Amino acid sequence: MSCYLIALAKEKKLTHNNLKNQTWAEESIIESSHLDVGVVKCVSCGQLFIYCFREYTSPDWEDDMWTFWIPATPEDIEEVKKNIDVLSGFIEELVNKRSHICWGPNNKVSWVEGGCDWSSLIFS
Ligand SMILES: [Zn+2]
Repeated sequence: MSCYLIALAKEKKLTHNNLKNQTWAEESIIESSHLDVGVVKCVSCGQLFIYCFREYTSPDWEDDMWTFWIPATPEDIEEVKKNIDVLSGFIEELVNKRSHICWGPNNKVSWVEGGCDWSSLIFS
């Protein structure tokens, strides 16, 4: 993958503004009060990402906002659509296993190599 957004994320130089201004929203797959999933595309190279916004309310009623951009192929996106009935669990798996860009409640944008093993916490 040669997308400069991914390269910037790996160098810890990617900002939320980069992502906002340099990706197109291609498609919305689901929009709900606590989970949005869609497809965005890098404006300059066309790299596709599965976009996921998750609002997670912790047991002590803190609202945490998480956004994930998972580099994806058109086949990956078809798989997401096939799993629309179990989307939260399907996205949890993707975030768990796949390298991705994460914008978390600490307001930092980071590259998560190989996925994060705690994704079940916020998608449960
Ligand atoms: Zn790109």
